[in-house]
Amino acid sequence: MSEISCDDVLHEIEHFIHGELDPERSATLAEHLEGCAPCFHRAEFQRRLRDIVRSKCLQQKTPEHLVLRIRSAIRFERTDGPPAL
Ligand SMILES: [Zn+2]
Repeated sequence: MSEISCDDVLHEIEHFIHGELDPERSATLAEHLEGCAPCFHRAEFQRRLRDIVRSKCLQQKTPEHLVLRIRSAIRFERTDGPPAL
């Protein structure tokens, strides 16, 4: 069973959510997310962001309250997450 660090998970979370990882790697990430709350929340955030972006593309127009929610969520992520590079 392969171990994976939080850094690796955060690096690959986007590919994981978009289903771009191979099944084995994907399973490794999923396993990590089950036992690691910070990474799990990060994954949930990315997933929500993807859904918002997707619906934005369909609607052509982003409701103002959604824009504000995304902005505050990103701000929250920055202060809550690991230091940015
Ligand atoms: Zn983690």
